[in-house]
Amino acid sequence: MTIQNYINGEFVNPIANNWLDNYNPATGEIYGQIPNSDANDVEKAVESATLAFLKWSKTTLDERSKILSKIANLIVEKIDFLAAAESKDNGKPISLAKQVDIPRAAANFQFFANAITQFSSESHESVGLNAINFTLRQPIGIVGCISPWNLPLYLFTWKIAPAIAAGNCVIAKPSEITPMTAYLLGEICNEAGLPKGVLNIVHGLGNTTGQAIVQHPKIKAISFTGGTKTGAQIAKIAAPMFKKLSLELGGKNPNIIFADCDYDQMLATTVRSSFSNQGQICLCGSRILVEESIYEKFKIDFIEKVSQLKIGNPADETSDIGALVSKEHLEKVKKYIDIAENEAGKILFGGRNIIIKGCENGYFLQPTIIEITDNQCKLNQEEIFGPVVTILSFKTDEEALSLANETKYGLSATVWTNNLKRTMHFSQELQTGIVWVNTWMLRDLRTPFGGIKDSGIGREGGFEALRFFTEAKNVCIKSLL
Ligand code: NAD
Repeated sequence: MTIQNYINGEFVNPIANNWLDNYNPATGEIYGQIPNSDANDVEKAVESATLAFLKWSKTTLDERSKILSKIANLIVEKIDFLAAAESKDNGKPISLAKQVDIPRAAANFQFFANAITQFSSESHESVGLNAINFTLRQPIGIVGCISPWNLPLYLFTWKIAPAIAAGNCVIAKPSEITPMTAYLLGEICNEAGLPKGVLNIVHGLGNTTGQAIVQHPKIKAISFTGGTKTGAQIAKIAAPMFKKLSLELGGKNPNIIFADCDYDQMLATTVRSSFSNQGQICLCGSRILVEESIYEKFKIDFIEKVSQLKIGNPADETSDIGALVSKEHLEKVKKYIDIAENEAGKILFGGRNIIIKGCENGYFLQPTIIEITDNQCKLNQEEIFGPVVTILSFKTDEEALSLANETKYGLSATVWTNNLKRTMHFSQELQTGIVWVNTWMLRDLRTPFGGIKDSGIGREGGFEALRFFTEAKNVCIKSLL
């Protein structure tokens, strides 16, 4: 299947007619082509967005809200089709795409369809000065949205929905590794009646298409989700142009387990937080820290549960674990397993490639559990972003906290405990943007989402996203009477 750029409401080939192959990670087969767009394609998209902005920025909130709702409904209607496309493009189990990725893409549009009607300006009376202030929240203009491959439609729409709800026009680029559902979203937007040029989708590589978006002087804000290194490159280009930036980057998240927790809940959730989506979620709890008194029991039970996971063809509804996203990524993850074998840890489970019947050339890897003793080892400090977790024991609360915080990343942390004092202490002291207690990846879309340290800057979600995608302008009126 050939994917095209979506510019000014139309599907078009890249101007230079350069193309990239699109692979199915479960079979290793090429099953389509995608545009390898360059700065000229981005320029066309910006021209279309510039024209569209004149009208879109003046539409009523009700009009925008209705179109966003319609997009949400169409995504729900097409859930089976979109989930199958996502699973084939990314290698994720189809059940996960159906239960999480696609419903969340619809929820993103529905949430911001409602949120934009609730997003109101502030006003302040300057008492004694006979003046009142009110703050206008105006759309920025043309904004860039760049997203990664791990949760393709989920994260793509998480940016686009608030951006257009706030009255902006968007130049968006999905990952070149998983372009399919972004392409299908273009069709849905046309069907929903989104005016031409409000959303433009340009496909291609990061260092060509992505960079052209970041460098374009008319694109005034960039919302980026991806790797920490890429985030730094983007910031370097955007800073001298004073672009607004939201950077959602990598993580190396601790999952801290205390003996006083609800053990069964913890165990089931830890299997999920370790290996959901083949461990390719920025929020996965890849560093498991366990209180010494339950460490040996946890090891046995965790290995038993993980050994029951079914690795299989992502298109099979009964598969728990699908394929890694690409050959290159599989090789990268395996290098960390080699480190465990040769230097820094003991593999307790997994670590091997798996051959799946009917998918013999796919990129499958067993879920892998590595016991380590040194928190500073590469396995525990670098983001692996695959089905690999480390486990390490601790004796005291303070030791657990310092192990958890000893990393350059600061995205999320999970704490398993029934002790209120401990809950409060860890909530305050963990150096992360998100803390979950007795749960994982429970997301209320009204809440701020994002990381600190090398996990990024800025927050998305709820009104934070609408604040990012608008400029605040204060108006001060003095009464001269
Ligand atoms: P990546 O940084 O390689 O690519 C992300 C996107 O940026 C892709 O669309 C890519 O084409 C584009 N890109 C690459 N180089 C670019 C450049 N120089 N200029 C502009 N765009 C460029 O990341 P990835 O491998 O696709 O995704 C995995 C990473 O994403 C992991 O580090 C993961 O933790 C992170 N992630 C973070 C979050 C979060 O919310 N914090 C969520 C999901 C994934």
